[in-house]
Amino acid sequence: MSDAPSFWSPALKGLVPYTPGEQPAIEGLVKLNTNENPYPPSPRVVAAITAAAQDGLQLYPDPQAVVFRQAVASWHGLDAGQVFAGNGSDEVLAYAFFAFFRQDRPILMPDISYSFYKVYCALYGIAAELVPLDAEMRIDVAQYEAPCGGVVIANPNAPTGTGLPLADIEKLLQQQSRRVVLVDEAYVDFGGESAIGLIQRYPNLLVVQTLSKSRSLAGLRVGFAAGQRHLIEALELVKDSFNSYPLDRLAMAGAAAAYGDKAYFEATCAAVIASRELLASQLQDLGFEVFPSQANFLMVRHPGHDAATLAAALREKRVLVRHFSLPRIEQHLRISIGTPEQCAALVAACHALVRR
Ligand code: PMP
Repeated sequence: MSDAPSFWSPALKGLVPYTPGEQPAIEGLVKLNTNENPYPPSPRVVAAITAAAQDGLQLYPDPQAVVFRQAVASWHGLDAGQVFAGNGSDEVLAYAFFAFFRQDRPILMPDISYSFYKVYCALYGIAAELVPLDAEMRIDVAQYEAPCGGVVIANPNAPTGTGLPLADIEKLLQQQSRRVVLVDEAYVDFGGESAIGLIQRYPNLLVVQTLSKSRSLAGLRVGFAAGQRHLIEALELVKDSFNSYPLDRLAMAGAAAAYGDKAYFEATCAAVIASRELLASQLQDLGFEVFPSQANFLMVRHPGHDAATLAAALREKRVLVRHFSLPRIEQHLRISIGTPEQCAALVAACHALVRR
C-alpha cells in the first residue's frame, strides 16, 4: 500500500477531504451529531419507493428527473426548468462550484460555515477569501462588497444556526450583481426565510436545498438547486459531463412523494422547532450559552467545561454530539435536535456532567 500514491494523480497531493459526522452502530445511542431528522419520512414516501421498486428497476431512470423537478417547482411556484436535481445537495454544491466559481478572483465565504465549501475549493483549485463572522457569530453582508469570483453562504448558517434576513440577502445580490451568490438553505425549513421568492428578480441567485433535513430523507440522497434558467443550464452542462443519472428511480419516486405530504412536513418541522426551543432553555438553565438557532441544531458552549472533553464524556454516556476542532469554535458543541426523549436524555447526561 505504501507505493499506492505513486499511482495517484498529482492533483490528489495534499487534498484534505470533508469528514462527515460518525455513524457508529452502537445500541441505544442517542445520535445528535449529524443534523438528521429524528422522525422517519412520510409514509407516502415509503409507499412511493416500494411501488417504484416493483416497476422498472431494470431500466435507467429519467436523466432529467422531471417528476421530481416538477414537484419542487410547483411547491415553490417555479418552472421545472428552474430546478436542478442532484444526489444530495453536496453533489449539487459540487456542480455549482465547478460551474460558477472557477473565476479569476477568489470567492467569498464566511470563516465559519459548512466545511465542505473549502473542500470543493481545494478540489477545483478555487481560491477562497474567508470573511469573519461578527462578534455575535453573524454574517455581516457589508463585508462582502469586494470584487470577487462569487459568494457562498449557508442560510441559516452552519454550525451556528443563525439566519440572515432576506433584506440582507438582497443587499448581497445587489452588491455582487455580476457574480453568482449561492445561498445554501439546507436548514431553512426550521424557521429561516427562503430566498427562492427572489429568483425571478435576481439572475445571479442560486438557492440550494436538501431533502436530508426537513424531509427526513438523508438516506435517500436528494438535493436541488433553484435559479433562473441560464444558471440551471450551466449545472446541467456540468452534470451531463459527469453523471447522467444522479437520481435513481427509487430516489426520484420518494423525493417527489415527499412534496405531496404537506401536513406531515409541517407537523415534523413544528415538532423539531418546539423541541429546539425547549432544549435551548434547558441547556441555558445548566449554564450553557446557546446561540439563537433557526435550524435543527443548536450551537452551545459551557464557560466552565472544555468542549472536546464534554463531547467525549457525553459519548461515554452514549450521547453523540458534534465537536469541531476549528478556530473560533473549538470550545463549542453542535447538537442536533432529536425527539423529545432524545433531547431529555441529552439534558440528563449534561446535568450529570456539568453539575458534578
Ligand atoms: N449544506 C449544509 C449547510 C449542510 O450542513 C449539509 C449537511 N451536511 C449539506 C449541505 C449537505 O446535505 P446533503 O448532501 O445531505 O443534501
